[in-house]
Amino acid sequence: MRVFKFGGASISSKQAIDNVLDIIKNHASGNLVVVISAMGKMTNALEVLMKAHHENLKENLKKQYAEIAQYHLSIADDLFGDNDELKKNTGYLLKQLDYQLEKEPTENYDYDYDQIVSFGELLSTQLISDYFNYKGLKNKLFDARFLIRTEDTYREARVEWDKTSEKVQQQIGGFFKNSDSKIAITQGFIGATAEHNTTTLGREGSDYTAAIIAYTMDAKDVTIWKDVPGLLNADPKYFPDAVLLNEIPYREAIELAFYGASVIHPKTIKPLQNKQIPLYVKSFINPSHEGSLIQGNLLQNTIPCYIFKRNQVLLSIIPKDFSFIEEENFSLIFGLFAHFGIRINLMQNSAISFTVCADYNPNQFQALVDELNTEFSVRYNLNMELITIRNYDDETIDRILNQRKVYFEQKSRSTIQMVVGKVK
Ligand code: ASP
Ligand code: MG
Repeated sequence: MRVFKFGGASISSKQAIDNVLDIIKNHASGNLVVVISAMGKMTNALEVLMKAHHENLKENLKKQYAEIAQYHLSIADDLFGDNDELKKNTGYLLKQLDYQLEKEPTENYDYDYDQIVSFGELLSTQLISDYFNYKGLKNKLFDARFLIRTEDTYREARVEWDKTSEKVQQQIGGFFKNSDSKIAITQGFIGATAEHNTTTLGREGSDYTAAIIAYTMDAKDVTIWKDVPGLLNADPKYFPDAVLLNEIPYREAIELAFYGASVIHPKTIKPLQNKQIPLYVKSFINPSHEGSLIQGNLLQNTIPCYIFKRNQVLLSIIPKDFSFIEEENFSLIFGLFAHFGIRINLMQNSAISFTVCADYNPNQFQALVDELNTEFSVRYNLNMELITIRNYDDETIDRILNQRKVYFEQKSRSTIQMVVGKVK
């Protein structure tokens, strides 16, 4: 069996959904699991809704709910015309969402988030599964909350692999038995705890779902269908001459995803590597183009790859009592970063100071600095950019440093990372 994953951009309108239908008809063979994200920008819209719910902003809540409902209802209209029967499921799911919103917010923001934001995937898969059946592409919709078992770290839930394997094999494996051409559809991004509370796997987590299912079913391969031609060596928005990486070993793909190449979710590759399942990244706009293939261990490409992380903060942490930076201080500092959920992207220590480049989020950052201030003095620069170049050479460095000042840098044989800001 094979796994296809389609993200929000590939299913944002009837036309886009028809394109996905064609891709499945023309590019799939044998048994297929189709993993689908929320439509268009619906996850962001649901996050706004969640915030309004949590802050009890009734007017905003109403307005945001109406927008989300309208978006799905109008796609349902486009897909099903005046066949009201087929639109019922969308109405039913929107009612369930409304019912969630009527509940008082709990103390646990992340729990509430998962109960609400998961509706993006519930709505998209229902619409698409119904539409494909209506168009004669027979399929069965599986609720991922009965497949993907997780523990209860809401918004970043960890997969319980044994239970998940058992469930996927039982349900999807059972469905595929004794036939060689069936289609199962399920939601990316969501799962459930043993108590059957909905969880999510982290933003952009649908790729990961595709990998989980492939792993548990020993899939032949996985294809992630994207709005870019495949994995590129740089973001084409900023590098017009970006080139496609045709074949990349797992290890290199993990590194690129880890440093922030946003084409594939970083957790996706490891499970596939463990079972040596090839991963294709292909364009849903040009489905017959070759795309990128991630497999094997041999690094053939030594093309420099550029990865930019914007909105970074560079901070130096210095103990107030002039003690050295050593294990005790580290454990205090790391504990605080973990507590506030701030991701460290780069770090370095000297005798009396510890320097960190991290993702910047104003609220969490301020809270972190307040806490650090009791033991340390803290200095920082905002609006920094973290640039990572794999397979660098001097020319590649010069090329990107134009108009930028380097505040901090770290080098290994294959990778250079620089924290840079604009030249004033
Ligand atoms: N819909 C979720 C998100 O936008 C999951 C995904 O797209 O992979 O984060
Ligand atoms: Mg999405």
